[in-house]
Amino acid sequence: MDDGLSSVGYRGRFAPSPSGALHFGSVVAALGSFLQARTQRGEWLLRIENIDPPREVSGATDAILRELERLGLFWDGPVCYQHDRREAHLAARDELIARGLAYHCRCSRRQSGPGAYPGTCRTLHLTPDATATLRLRVSETPISIVDTLHGEVVETLTETCGDYVVWRVEDWPAYHLAVVVDDAWHGITEVVRGADLLDSSPRQRYLQRCLGLAEPLYCHLPLALDVDGAKLSKQTLACPVSGQPASAVLTAALGFLGHPLPSALTGAPPAELLAWARSAWSLTRVPLSARQPEPLNP
Ligand code: GLU
Repeated sequence: MDDGLSSVGYRGRFAPSPSGALHFGSVVAALGSFLQARTQRGEWLLRIENIDPPREVSGATDAILRELERLGLFWDGPVCYQHDRREAHLAARDELIARGLAYHCRCSRRQSGPGAYPGTCRTLHLTPDATATLRLRVSETPISIVDTLHGEVVETLTETCGDYVVWRVEDWPAYHLAVVVDDAWHGITEVVRGADLLDSSPRQRYLQRCLGLAEPLYCHLPLALDVDGAKLSKQTLACPVSGQPASAVLTAALGFLGHPLPSALTGAPPAELLAWARSAWSLTRVPLSARQPEPLNP
């Protein structure tokens, strides 16, 4: 990939979907992945995952970019828009089909049920049409990943999710396919993101192996919860951080990640806070458990 970036060393990324403005949980993922890259003198890329037009919120991409800049989280190289990567996603899809690793399926969401997909269409040899999704044939062999924070995570995909969708009925790549193809293309060496995606990692590892892609490390940061104990998410309209002073947002996110700011730095501008954070950052200080963040202290 010729994007003016180096070809060696650590490369991380932040990959928000433009389904809303950045909330506290997404700032935690952005900041953690940024610090993990910067403390290893690595690069930090920004990829906007805009492959789900119905869930895209107008103006969200711009709001995310402006918010990252306001917080001093400057990325390397050009912003990648996942929507522009369709040719590569189609090539991966076609490879899976050509190698017999995926099959078309006409089960509706209701027919496929809530648990592991039972493989109803696995042997039907359906031809593609406008009602078909494409499912990956998963293996009964347990897939193990070693998360930098959580240690070994083992999943038997036939039991947890079954053959999962890699190409959607709307003719868009499913998240897992797009994310592994693009992480590999970007040369990402470690994926740092929220722990809500921990379960996704063995699924993504399996797909990487099917496609012969490089296998990045994974590191899943603690999730920020709302007062009801649910994950903060753009879909549940978690409060955007854009209305809060940048220093207060960074201070709260650093505290959440186990790096409480020394009181001498209270209210310091983002560049100063981040310089301190870069010198102090250690994954050993990051707590594992999901919890509610402390209220922001402007
Ligand atoms: N686009 C996903 C989200 O906004 C994150 C994907 C990832 O980090 O792998 O939740």
